[in-house]
Amino acid sequence: MQYPHNLNPNDFPSPCFVTDLAKLEENVRILNTVQERTKAKILLALKGFAQWKSFPYLSRTMRGSLYGACASSVDEARLSKEEFKGEVHAFAAGFSSEDMQELLTLCDHITFNSIHQWKKFRPMIIEYNARHEKKVLCGLRINPEHSEGAVPIYDPCDKSSRLGIRLKDFASENLDELFEGITGLHFHTLCEQNSDALDRTLRVVEEKFAFMLERVSWVNFGGGHHITREDYDLELLCQCINRVQAKYPVQIYLEPGEAVALKAGYLISTVLDVIEADMPMAILDTSASCHMPDVLEMPYRPMITGSGEENQKKYTCRLGGKSCLAGDAIGIYSFDEPLKDGDKLVFEDMAIYSMVKTTTFNGLRLPSIALWDSRTNKILDLKHFGYEDFKGRLS
Ligand SMILES: *Cc1c(COP(=O)(O)O)cnc(C)c1O
Repeated sequence: MQYPHNLNPNDFPSPCFVTDLAKLEENVRILNTVQERTKAKILLALKGFAQWKSFPYLSRTMRGSLYGACASSVDEARLSKEEFKGEVHAFAAGFSSEDMQELLTLCDHITFNSIHQWKKFRPMIIEYNARHEKKVLCGLRINPEHSEGAVPIYDPCDKSSRLGIRLKDFASENLDELFEGITGLHFHTLCEQNSDALDRTLRVVEEKFAFMLERVSWVNFGGGHHITREDYDLELLCQCINRVQAKYPVQIYLEPGEAVALKAGYLISTVLDVIEADMPMAILDTSASCHMPDVLEMPYRPMITGSGEENQKKYTCRLGGKSCLAGDAIGIYSFDEPLKDGDKLVFEDMAIYSMVKTTTFNGLRLPSIALWDSRTNKILDLKHFGYEDFKGRLS
């Protein structure tokens, strides 16, 4: 079997997430061309990829070129401050007072999801900023109510969305009073999309929210930009950024998660058994439910090296996880040879929304996590998990 970039699954424990530093650095290089062509700053969204041992290679405070990271919670903000060491930005659908107290000590930017949350925390922020030299900048997330066709659970502009302030919510506000203390506008409406979707979204934002663009000094275009995908139109992205920057004196931010680690990781697994269901079914030492929940949630069918669609190759079978969930199924695949106990399977594009979402349901052990460099075939970091990780999150 020819594995990508001469990855040898036998060099790693199983199951194991393996991230290729060479591909991560290639992605960051592409992202940096956007920074150089536009003056936009790009942040890593930790929600999608938080393998912190790789941060020194991503952050411009060390060997990379990204300006910082964006967090969805206090703990992501802390990880960002401790390990990424660049700018720390935070957004969540709701913050508690305890969250805000901690975030103020960690963040450079905090973005609010509602007018109520902003008004509630404004006095606390003003007080904090009065006592500290480094000021925390505040922004509002808007909902432009312009859908670009993402599936509903990934569409922040779906009718029932709770994400972002709608234009009508500003109608009853005194804008001068409301924007006292606000320096930024944030929108995040895309998911795995190309820059044509951004272009259309921006035109809606510029039309509906010009009153805000005129009042702020930074604009965050959110994530969902598939910038490092082969067919991504970088030229149009740069045009979009430069167009807004030419019209308004603002610093633009992008905060992709996927694009930073796209196609940079694998999940290595081993066949434990092959049984007969309605067709042959290989039971793996990994699990869709515990180790790649997006396979069930998104849902999608992950690529496996050397496999084909159903009946495309000689031997077709189902792949199932080792948990006791009846629906722990990965899909139907075909291979040149029948699978057997001990065979290795390599799932591709497994760095993103994978290790950040694992669970220990059923007491299944978390896959090991490796940082590997395909250029030198060296393992730079290898972390194992065990019983303590299962026990430690229960009491
Ligand atoms: C999910 C999310 C991101 C990252 O999205 P990707 O699809 O991984 O690029 C960025 N910003 C916000 C506010 C998000 O919710």
